[in-house]
Amino acid sequence: MNSLLLTGGRVIDPANHLDAPADLLILDGKIAAVGKIAGTQIPADVERMDVSGLVVCPGLMDLHVHLREPGQSAKETIATGMAAAARGGFTSVVCMPNTTPSIDNAGTVALIRERAVREGGVNVFVTGAITKGIAGEELAPIGGLKRAGVVAITDDGHCIQNNDLMRRACEYAKMFDLPVMDHCQDYSLVTDGVMHEGYWSTALGLRGWPSAGEEMIVARNILLAELTGAKIHCQHLSAAGSVQLLRDAKKRGVSISGEACPHHFTLTDAAIAGGEKFWPADGKGIFGFKSPTQPFPEWPSYDTNFKMNPPLRSARDREAILEGLADGTIEILCSDHAPHCDYEKEVEFDYAPFGITGLEVELALSLMQLVHSGRISLAEMIAKYTVNPARLLNLKKGTLTVGADADVTVFAPDREWSFDKRTTASKSLNNPFYGWPLKGQAVATIVGGKKAWFEQMVPAHV
Ligand SMILES: [Zn+2]
Repeated sequence: MNSLLLTGGRVIDPANHLDAPADLLILDGKIAAVGKIAGTQIPADVERMDVSGLVVCPGLMDLHVHLREPGQSAKETIATGMAAAARGGFTSVVCMPNTTPSIDNAGTVALIRERAVREGGVNVFVTGAITKGIAGEELAPIGGLKRAGVVAITDDGHCIQNNDLMRRACEYAKMFDLPVMDHCQDYSLVTDGVMHEGYWSTALGLRGWPSAGEEMIVARNILLAELTGAKIHCQHLSAAGSVQLLRDAKKRGVSISGEACPHHFTLTDAAIAGGEKFWPADGKGIFGFKSPTQPFPEWPSYDTNFKMNPPLRSARDREAILEGLADGTIEILCSDHAPHCDYEKEVEFDYAPFGITGLEVELALSLMQLVHSGRISLAEMIAKYTVNPARLLNLKKGTLTVGADADVTVFAPDREWSFDKRTTASKSLNNPFYGWPLKGQAVATIVGGKKAWFEQMVPAHV
């Protein structure tokens, strides 16, 4: 019998309100027991892992990942994206449909699901496009996508501007019990903005992407959720106004939810003016600790690794996202892992594509900004990466309940480390956090009872 026993860890399972020292037994890919486990339950040939001093929690899920396959495998493949997820402590990822071709038909859904299973590693859940070719004009076959196994629909990377079309999409989605995830961007307000519209966009001479460009669509989505009863989920929230809209709507019981990405609540738009400006302007106290050995990282102005969509916003917006996470307005954490090739990013700021990788650093950044800073508990943070996304997507995941799939993450919450370009598992290097003093790191990623990744597998630094 395939079995694994994790001993001496601090087991945190928010779905079962468990946070206590406990052992965890896995038998044949399922959680078999949690707590003090009787010797008679444990097979003689069990593999033991001593996890004392570490946190053991349900496998983390990232519901906003771009795996880039099919069609853009120079940036990332399903295999390398899965490897980056496992390295970061993630047992499940949800991939976005803006591939080439886009995931707007059952065939592409099947292709990705089959390839992910063949590669093995972490669980890959697929989202389907809302409109054909993500063009925002004609609905994709939503029923067919559901039958093919998508867990949600989204035009991520794009946003449907026609409110009537979005309404019809919501009505279909409700019929098929699928959440609608939306990248909130009003094109007429944003036009060709490349960074947050504010002091720094003026100072740097870059075109602005105003907060209202996001808030407008969050407000639209709230109205459409009320009108249709569909579950609408607002992706990668960046603006203070969006958080307030969501907070008010949720108080009224509207079926609306939101997610936040660590870069939006770690950095601000001052980062685009360079490390020299960021640290005095907004970076003070960002770590909650100062490494005795490592100086603050440096980077030049106009560094395209700080260009993402939606953009990094003001210190006030950053604070509002943190408050929204702390009071439960924003229930879900994710990375918006968006790999791009060096040659695409190494151009003028205006011309670089939006997006950064995130799977390997998001756990550390979330721990630092939310838990180590004292804003929320470890259990609350874990819920935002496990049971909350699983509930939104109707997945039987995100818990250590006996009988559940043995997807388990083991991490060291207080370990200090830094992210090294040479060790990333992703195919792309577009990340602003190399060399930053980070705190908290995954140690083992167990998927269906098997180790998808564990620490000893890291190659020694070259
Ligand atoms: Zn997006």
